[in-house]
Amino acid sequence: MVDISHHLQRQTNMDEDNNEVMDIAQEECAEVIQAISKIRRFGIDNAKPGTEYTNREHLEEEVGDVLAMIDILLINNVVSWGNLHKAKRAKIEKLKKWSNIPNLDKI
Ligand SMILES: [Mg+2]
Repeated sequence: MVDISHHLQRQTNMDEDNNEVMDIAQEECAEVIQAISKIRRFGIDNAKPGTEYTNREHLEEEVGDVLAMIDILLINNVVSWGNLHKAKRAKIEKLKKWSNIPNLDKI
């Protein structure tokens, strides 16, 4: 039988410090997905009936929520700015090669 106790211990340590942060970060990422779905279905400058804000403003709010969670992940040392920057640069390079998204050289 394979000994996985070291994995379980590591997970327990993460949960004690950052369980709530992970739960909320997960929720906020899902809310961004939902906001993008609404834009794809109903248009970016339309508003949901009964609300005063547009789907664009809703997306801005949800992306802002994710930015707040990223700051918390950084301040809690769950992720490091150096590694985030490295991953971001790698993603931009991949998109330059494999997508038609314009203006990537400006980032
Ligand atoms: Mg939110």
